[in-house]
This record gives sequence, structure tokens and C-alpha cells, in this order.
Amino acid sequence: MTPLGLRRTVIAGGLGIALLCFGAGRAAQPDPDHHETLYVFGTLVELVIHGAEDSAAREASAEVGALFQTLHRDWHAWEAGELGELNAAIAEGGAFRTDARLADLLREGAALSCLSGGRFDPAIGALVALWGFHEDSPPEGEMPDAAAVAALAARAPRMSDLRFDGDTVGSVNPAVQLDLGGYAKGAALDLAGALLQARGIGDAVLNAGGDVNVIGSHGDRAWRVAIRDPFVWGAVGAISLAPGEVLYTSGNYERFFEHDGARFAHIIDPRSGWPVQEIVSVSVLDTDGSRADAAATALSVAGRHEWPQVAADMGVDSVLMIADDGTMLATPAMIARLEPAAGGFPQAVEIVQLPPPSAGARCAED
Ligand code: AMP
Ligand code: MG
Repeated sequence: MTPLGLRRTVIAGGLGIALLCFGAGRAAQPDPDHHETLYVFGTLVELVIHGAEDSAAREASAEVGALFQTLHRDWHAWEAGELGELNAAIAEGGAFRTDARLADLLREGAALSCLSGGRFDPAIGALVALWGFHEDSPPEGEMPDAAAVAALAARAPRMSDLRFDGDTVGSVNPAVQLDLGGYAKGAALDLAGALLQARGIGDAVLNAGGDVNVIGSHGDRAWRVAIRDPFVWGAVGAISLAPGEVLYTSGNYERFFEHDGARFAHIIDPRSGWPVQEIVSVSVLDTDGSRADAAATALSVAGRHEWPQVAADMGVDSVLMIADDGTMLATPAMIARLEPAAGGFPQAVEIVQLPPPSAGARCAED
């Protein structure tokens, strides 16, 4: 049972494998759902398929599991694989022929990075590693050398440094090291969703530790997703997702270490090289997993004053931001969908209108 006591509810936002509660109070009925726990990029993914023949559900789940294994190997930021080979080539000033899927993902990442004004930038893998986040367990309390952080940030690794020749990728800046952690989960769930639909699965949910893609509905009801309260165990509210919608949350409570009472999170501002401080969580409701995932990361970096412009530039209009003082900010599109937890929102939600996209958001196509 979730803290909200919701049925068919996923808790979004870094709970590890989140809760999916089905059928509470209707114990006599057989479970019409196929459940599978899969694994990708250090995260457990819960796949629930509704209303399909058992054999079809099992086959489709197995294919998604195999896809995740391939993506885990090809896109991992620090384990050996295709991305590692590309990073090694870039460090030596060379280029590497990737498969088409990785090249497409990198082109998409470059476009999203441009739209974010450089706040989302998967080229900062060396900075992420310097802060100790290229380990399966979070780093333990040691700060990196501030001069080393400044020196690396000054080398300004950017997605715009990448050069594409078909699927051959190189970089004009050898400081670029690709870490796709800011949007790979979204891209992986998008690919998995497309695969399920191609196999005839009409109703399913993919939940990667609170980042969620839904396909169809759960019978006559929508899939319902709760957004975690970053300060206490429980949820701030819940959203009923329409078919094809996704909900992604970035939070500084997910992976971090503490030093002298300060928290250093795994989301890093590419411009300064330092972790994000004032934003505790950002949730983005959208129809595209990789864009929502990238935007949640970018808006965490943008902070409480710049985020509305960055959201408008990235083309997302449904955003909830929670700052370290507990302030809750939401766009009109988000507040129209967000149902408060029992007892109401923990704080009054401030509604923030988005401005029109800025001229600077017109990023050149490759
Ligand atoms: P997310 O949980 O989606 O916000 O992604 C966080 C992960 O993205 C980190 O663990 C890093 O691997 C990577 N990352 C950190 N900062 C950034 C950034 N500014 N832009 C892109 N990726 C980032
Ligand atoms: Mg993200």
C-alpha cells in the first residue's frame, strides 16, 4: 500500500523500484496483469502488461529485457562497451563508428543540449566522474580538488563539439566525455515502449525507479503515478497519465554525497562544474521520454529563476519544481493534472506561467 493508499499507483521520483499497487480491495479477482522486473543502467525497471495473453506478454517482456541488456552495454558511461570506445577515441582526438542508434541518440542529445542553453549537456562525463559518480555506489564524502573542477569546466566540453559523419562520431574538443545518464533512461523506455507496441501490447507501464512511460491504460482506468515528496516518505500528489504520456523526475536526493553538512548531488552545472544546490526535485510530464528526462535534468540546473524560459525553449509545458526550502512551483498545465496527496499539498503551490520560447532557442539542425 502506498503512503497515499492509491490503487494502481506508481510512486515517481527515486524510490528505487517504486510501488505499483493493483487491485487492493478486490482480492477475489485474478490478477489480469503480467509483472516483470528488468534491469538497465543500475536501475530496476518494473514492466506491467495489462490484458495480454500470457504467452504474448512473456515474449514481449523477454524482448524488452534483451533490449535493455544491449542498451546497458552500448550506452554505459563507465563500464566497457560502445560508448567507452567512443570516449577513448575522442580523448585521443580521433573518431569512432557507432551503430545508428547511438549516433541518433547523440544527435538528439546535442539538439536537447542546445535548446537547454547548455544546462543539459551529456558531454560532461569527465566532470561527473571527477565528482565520483562513475561508481555503482555513491561517493563517500571526499570533495574533488576545486582547481581540477575549474580546470575541467574551463575546457568547456559540449555536445556542440561533436562532429558527425554518418554514424562516425568525433569531437573537436578532446575534453568531451559522453555520459548519457541525463536522458538514457528516457530513451531506453521510449525504445521499449515502441517495441511493446510493435508486438501488439496495447496497455502497459514501464517504471524505472519512478521515471515512467505508459502505453494505453489499465483497463477502464488510467495508469496513475504519484510524485514523491523529497523531504518525507510519501507523495506530494499523483497524476493520471493518458495513453502515451511519460513522467520523469530528477532529484538531488537520488544520488549524492554529503561533506561538512552540504549535499553534493549528481546533477552538475556544465558551466561551473559544480553540483546543483537549491533544487531538490523537478518533475516533467510529457509525451517523449528522452525529452522529459533531459528537461528534468536541465531544469534542475536552471534553478528557480531561469527554469520557465528553459522549459519553454525545450518545448515542455507541464513542470513541477520543489526547491530546498520546500517551495513548490508548477506550470498551469501541471497543476491542472496534479491531484494533491491526502491532506493537500505540503505547501501552497505557486503557479508559474511559461514565457514564449526565446530566439536563442532556435538551434541549428545538424
Ligand atoms: P537525471 O537523474 O536524469 O537528472 O540524470 C542525472 C545523471 O545525468 C547524472 O548521474 C549524470 O550521469 C548525468 N548528468 C549530470 N549533470 C548533467 C547535466 N548537466 N547534463 C546532462 N547530464 C548530466
Ligand atoms: Mg534526466
